[in-house]
Amino acid sequence: MRRKRLLWQIYPSFLLITLFLVLAVTWYASRSLRVFYLDEVAADLEARATLFRSQIGTPIAAREFERIDQLCKELGRESRTRITIILPTGEVVGDSDEEPAQMENHADRPEIIEAMSGQTGRSLRYSATLKTNMMYLAIPLSEGRETLAVVRTSIPTSAIDSALRSIYGKIAVGAVFLAVIVAVASLIMSKRIARPLVDLERAAERFAHGELKVPLAVPDSEEIGSLAIAMNKMAERLDARLRTMIEQRNEQQAVLASMVESVLAIDSEERIITINHAAAELFNIRPEDVHGRPLQEIVRNPELEKLATETLSSDTPVEGEIAIYDPEERVLQVHGTSLRDAQDANIGALLVLDDITEIRRLEKIRRDFVANVSHELKTPITTIKGFVETLLGGAMHSAQDLERFLKIIAKHSERLDSIIEDLLSLSRLEQETERDEIEFEPQNLVGIIHSAIEVSRPRTQVRDVSVKLHGDDVVEGRVNAQLLEHAIVNLIDNAVKYSEPGTEVEVGAEKRGEEVVVTVRDHGWGIEKKHLPRLFERFYRTDRARSREQGGTGLGLAIVKHVALVHGGRVDVESVLGEGSVFTIHLPVR
Ligand code: ADP
Repeated sequence: MRRKRLLWQIYPSFLLITLFLVLAVTWYASRSLRVFYLDEVAADLEARATLFRSQIGTPIAAREFERIDQLCKELGRESRTRITIILPTGEVVGDSDEEPAQMENHADRPEIIEAMSGQTGRSLRYSATLKTNMMYLAIPLSEGRETLAVVRTSIPTSAIDSALRSIYGKIAVGAVFLAVIVAVASLIMSKRIARPLVDLERAAERFAHGELKVPLAVPDSEEIGSLAIAMNKMAERLDARLRTMIEQRNEQQAVLASMVESVLAIDSEERIITINHAAAELFNIRPEDVHGRPLQEIVRNPELEKLATETLSSDTPVEGEIAIYDPEERVLQVHGTSLRDAQDANIGALLVLDDITEIRRLEKIRRDFVANVSHELKTPITTIKGFVETLLGGAMHSAQDLERFLKIIAKHSERLDSIIEDLLSLSRLEQETERDEIEFEPQNLVGIIHSAIEVSRPRTQVRDVSVKLHGDDVVEGRVNAQLLEHAIVNLIDNAVKYSEPGTEVEVGAEKRGEEVVVTVRDHGWGIEKKHLPRLFERFYRTDRARSREQGGTGLGLAIVKHVALVHGGRVDVESVLGEGSVFTIHLPVR
């Protein structure tokens, strides 16, 4: 429905009422004026009739009708009044304007009937004789109890009407003038009444748009003034409440946004209520786009939808694990709890998703590591156990077998020892890293390479591989000398192990831009490309039998990698099968 402005509701009624009043007053005044004027005319006619009656008393008594008619004509002309004398029979015996003989009997005229009964008769009607509207006034002429005649005076109403008309015209002009004044005055008044209400309405609209700071001016009117005060109070309270709500919402959003876990709130129809940044990133969506949209449309993960449905229908928290592909697989732990309002009614569900991909990966590494360690240890132990049993079973009595078997036992014990030694080195490294116990000092890396070559010398000599130092004499770096030497020894040992006798291994250090590098280059068997990405994993070997044959533990390169990481650096490898390999430890200059 189209709503009207308040002014157009008040003003027309105001105008109608006042115009009606003006009309009513005008009508009443005109009416009263007419009655008053007619009374005045009647009184005048009566006075003239009375005057005339006193003059015709004698001729009537003498029945001198001609004289009477003559008197009528004379006095009528002088007083510009029609005068008629009627006998009780109704016969007209004198008339100022007509010949009585030609006039009809007047006994039935209402004013005559009244006058005959002894009163003053008055009538306003059409005159058949004069063919015009007339006002008649008749009084009796009596002698004792007997009515001798009736004296009637009359004038045409056209005279009265024209006198009244000019007065009416003035009244009408006055009424129109009054109506205009009334119209303007009621417009001003309507506006005065409507303005504070319109102000209130505007203020209410401002408040509705959230502009609660500017209070409303309080008008003089008591009722509207109290309304304005009440509205201002309401706006103040609303503003305070809104501010609190916004603060609370901001706090909640800040908490949600800073959470590492992905948080999704859905309503009972599985439509998104809120989603934090972590969740939006996880599902590759923008948080502001998803409000009110169905969960299945946003996440497209049947496992998560199932958990959401379960949470909505359950009173207890729901837990589960889901996998998403992003494009790599990510494992998420989902905790679902029902959302309740202040009345403890179930209004939806809160899903907290924790990315446990890394935890699962570490768990798998640990499991694999334990399996690998067990496997690595089991082989030498089984061998040692077997030979010990064989010896105890009688073989020890043969000096030849005894020596041969003991040599095998010694070799496997050594292997066990080196595996355990390497494992201990790794675990020490991890522990010291965790406790931040590793100390770094400025060192000349070439000196560390020298001592590594010395440590490896017994193995290099056995395999007849010469290890040469090349490059600068002084390369400064802030390192832990012991750990770096261990890493270089491992690389030299590998270079020697996987090279043919008579070949050469070059070890050197140099500064390259923002880092210092230590390189160990051999001209040995080389490594197939497919092995390179996994070469630094614990127990990874390109050829298990060959490595064991060479006394390898599968942990050497893992230790090298760890040492590089401890220094904030990295290790990489380049290799060509059949031509040789280059291992490089990159260390940042600190
Ligand atoms: P291992 O004790 O078996 O040598 P590492 O961790 O030191 O264990 O080395 C892992 C594997 O990498 C070795 O088994 C070997 O196959 C390969 N490898 C390491 N260094 C070299 C190298 N210089 N030349 C060829 N292969 C190498």
